[in-house]
Amino acid sequence: VTPDEPRKALDFSNLLGDAKRRTQTPIKSLYNLFFLPGMLNLSAGLPHPSTFAFRSLSASVPDGPSSPSSRPLTSMSIPFLPSADSDAINKTIALTHSLQYGTTRGIPAYQAFVRQHTQEIHAPPYADWDVIGTVGNTDALSKAIGLIGSPGDTMLVDEWTYPAAVDTAQSHDVRLGPVSMDEQGMLPDALDQVLTNWTSTYGPDRPVPKMIYLVPTGQNPTGATMPLERRRAIYAQAQKHNLIIFEDDPYYYLQYADYQSPETRDNDHPDAQPGLSGLLPSFLSLDVDGRVIRMDSFSKILAPGSRTGWITASKQFLPYIEFHNETTVQQPSGLSQALLTELLTNVWSHKGWSDYLKQLQFDYFRRRNLFVDLVHRYLDGLADYVVPEAGMFVWLRPRFPQALLAPYPDPAPSSKGQSEAEAAASPKPIMPQVLDAMVEARVMLIPGYFFAGQIDRTERVNAPYLRAAFSFTKPEEFEPALQRLAGVLRQFDCGIE
Ligand code: PMP
Ligand code: PLP
Repeated sequence: VTPDEPRKALDFSNLLGDAKRRTQTPIKSLYNLFFLPGMLNLSAGLPHPSTFAFRSLSASVPDGPSSPSSRPLTSMSIPFLPSADSDAINKTIALTHSLQYGTTRGIPAYQAFVRQHTQEIHAPPYADWDVIGTVGNTDALSKAIGLIGSPGDTMLVDEWTYPAAVDTAQSHDVRLGPVSMDEQGMLPDALDQVLTNWTSTYGPDRPVPKMIYLVPTGQNPTGATMPLERRRAIYAQAQKHNLIIFEDDPYYYLQYADYQSPETRDNDHPDAQPGLSGLLPSFLSLDVDGRVIRMDSFSKILAPGSRTGWITASKQFLPYIEFHNETTVQQPSGLSQALLTELLTNVWSHKGWSDYLKQLQFDYFRRRNLFVDLVHRYLDGLADYVVPEAGMFVWLRPRFPQALLAPYPDPAPSSKGQSEAEAAASPKPIMPQVLDAMVEARVMLIPGYFFAGQIDRTERVNAPYLRAAFSFTKPEEFEPALQRLAGVLRQFDCGIE
């Protein structure tokens, strides 16, 4: 290995969990032989393409950069190509093969696009990485947990995290290890402490965690985006404690320009947005060891219902994901893969995509600005908040009077001489009441305890947080929504010292 040749990934085979019981389904192992020149293929039970119901596929898509409401559309179409040979299968996007059973890594043109894109954006700094198609990051995370985790293992998570990640872990009988965070995401020292003290805290029978789940950009629910230094520090802890990192980054492309106060705002323009070239480095791009399993999703870029994404990881992990696909989804829908690949490679290409993203980022940037301007106007004094630099969430910390936020249920009622009956009659937790009051006032945010990074969320039921998403409501509805929220918070005496 010369200095400029990246080394191969470290060997993590000792960290594999449930994946070890996965094997390749036998017929898939022959797949690459089916299309050898001259082969008369009596082997596979593939339906003949002449039986496919779709003979062409066309779509209207935005043509270049322009705002979503006024995008000129262009049309694209995907041909059938009945006589496609193996060469054509690898190079073109045609329904004959995108609608056929495939290798379960994705159609070759889809794989080629996301592989090249990953190289251009993340340039993983080790030699033997590759990509595999997924049905979005929900699917990807479930497969990643099933790769490294086994029942009884623990996945480390942010103290406040994406609820489906908690439930996915639970469905694998994997436990959660919450780690403290601040407005830049997980705290490296807290991570170090949790792992250093693991056995003294939990005893020798609870295995030391080998996986950590992170949403580094526009984190759900806190909106936190980890700056590069924080990413480096967390990666160093992952190396120190030999962790596999699950990088769930669906908001990566929704990074946008800084928040400036309305009076001095001079970055209100698509060209001030990062596009593809100004994005923060990912964990994958720092990953000299091959310990990151990065999950990208087209959900927040193109549409969640496309159900498409991809995993980038060391080649020692990918066969197990492939075997998992063989027994579940096979691969993302051929209709989706064909449409996306045609759009990204032939209609937009890299430059067109970058321009499209700048526009998308600009849309979120404007929503963020307007929302935060109004949060400032209506909630100052009632709640604290952090201004997001990416994604679609603002994490609010209403200033409830301390007395309202007693831990619930009271951890030691008897120490106060309370009988069980008195304890049962003691005040109900406050945050579910806030939820009821919001529903009554017809404004909806999600209370913090929904996002507790632990199985028993009720332990955090009185945590004084609310997650606001500014992605869906019409911008003209931001103001009445925040007025209603301010009314609810006043009902609970927020901001009164
Ligand atoms: N079950 C049986 C008995 C099959 O023969 C096949 C296709 N070979 C499948 C399931 C796979 O079906 P699907 O494409 O719907 O995943
Ligand atoms: N991961 C996080 C952190 C999310 O916030 C979401 C969407 O809400 C997902 C994954 C789901 O992504 P996908 O649609 O790609 O399954």
